[in-house]
Amino acid sequence: MEFSSLLELADRVAREVAQGPVATGVAPHRIREHLAAHLDLGASRPAPEVLEEVERMLRRWSVQVTHPRYFGLFNPCVLPEAVAAAALVAAYNPQEAVWTHAPAAQELERHALRHMASLVGFDPDRTAAHFTSGGQEANLTAVLAALSAAFPRIVEDGVQALPGRPVLYLAGEGHHSIARAARVAGLGSTSVRWVGVDDDLRMDVGALCGAVARDRAEGRLPFLVVGTAGTTASGAIDPLAEIANLARAEGLWFHCDAAWGGGALLSPRLRGHLAGIERADSVTWDAHKWLSCPMGSGAFLCTRPDAVRRAFEMDSGYMPAPRDGAEDPHRVSLQWSRRAIGVPVAVAFAVRGPEGYAALVEHQAAMGDRLRDALAAADFRIVNRTALPLVCFDHPRIGEGGRDVAEIARRVVGSGRAWISPVVLGSGQRALRACITSYRTTPGDVDALVAAVVEALG
Ligand SMILES: *Cc1c(COP(=O)(O)O)cnc(C)c1O
Repeated sequence: MEFSSLLELADRVAREVAQGPVATGVAPHRIREHLAAHLDLGASRPAPEVLEEVERMLRRWSVQVTHPRYFGLFNPCVLPEAVAAAALVAAYNPQEAVWTHAPAAQELERHALRHMASLVGFDPDRTAAHFTSGGQEANLTAVLAALSAAFPRIVEDGVQALPGRPVLYLAGEGHHSIARAARVAGLGSTSVRWVGVDDDLRMDVGALCGAVARDRAEGRLPFLVVGTAGTTASGAIDPLAEIANLARAEGLWFHCDAAWGGGALLSPRLRGHLAGIERADSVTWDAHKWLSCPMGSGAFLCTRPDAVRRAFEMDSGYMPAPRDGAEDPHRVSLQWSRRAIGVPVAVAFAVRGPEGYAALVEHQAAMGDRLRDALAAADFRIVNRTALPLVCFDHPRIGEGGRDVAEIARRVVGSGRAWISPVVLGSGQRALRACITSYRTTPGDVDALVAAVVEALG
């Protein structure tokens, strides 16, 4: 049956990728020359031949993020059932701008989003949620919804009609997509207050409190605080419950950016680390990170549907009217035409079940623990503290004889044996960063990474 061949395709790619190098370097002109010679767009060729050529290129010239020794930036090894579902959805091409065009896809997504809302601790009946292109779009949606809640006239009159300057708060380790969202929303990047962090790189809520008071005293208009659950650099989880308390006391919208860390909600053992997320007004949670779904599947969940509607509602005169009890995505979110990107997520939830997903997440957490132990045993220093499988480390010999973390990362990546990256933490501390992003990573892969780093250290 053809579905087994789609599942086999995903499985074959993952298996074959695991046999090869994690990354190979290439210059842009090399690929452009190859394309000029092998993919003449002035002629036509049979589809299988073209697809084979494309696969050869993808194999040769990609950082293989599905490789079990890719320890990188939250890009997962994808679940075969989600790959198969993505291909199936592409074949039907449902248009999700309006409910009546794509009832099945729409309700499959709603089913998945209600499940995600429950995992967050939201009441699914009171949650507005939709899939986004990723965390960037979800974070922009949060900024726009928070603005429309705090300043209802902003949707008609714009920022310039406000009596002061709106400002928002984000820990110094928060994601720069929030700053870009502020820019895109017309607030400018200096509307973002980068709040200091404690020794564990978590937002310092005392500093947050002081910053809000200062801004108010100076006539600015605080409206939003963003807490991150799983920072990109170090996996830190901001003190979400304390932020929720402050947000309530100050009348600020509380957004939790759990783009990657949201995955911990699937594990009964890890979910307690995100306590307080259930008190957020909105949450960003990327299925294309720890949920191991294909790229382009973010999600935005919000307990204040009216603010979201106010931010986006448009009456066009040419779009069909919604059906009773259904919502038309183009009215309550940023995209108009859209891919049914959440259907693979629904499929993944249905195939794995709660226990399967918990096992996937906990396996990766266990590989993170193993990595910490193996590095410590080889005299590396672990320089971050998190329950999530993201390890930042350095070594007493780094800094000696011109060795620096960037050079070590380059050597490891150049060996083709693993992919890790250099990172700058908090007040400028430089370290190496390795994150368990593949559910296929084994203890042997972790040990191979440590061996590659030891060798690169020389
Ligand atoms: C990845 C990430 C983002 C950006 O999300 P995209 O899906 O890459 O657009 C934002 N915040 C955090 C914490 C992230 O990990």
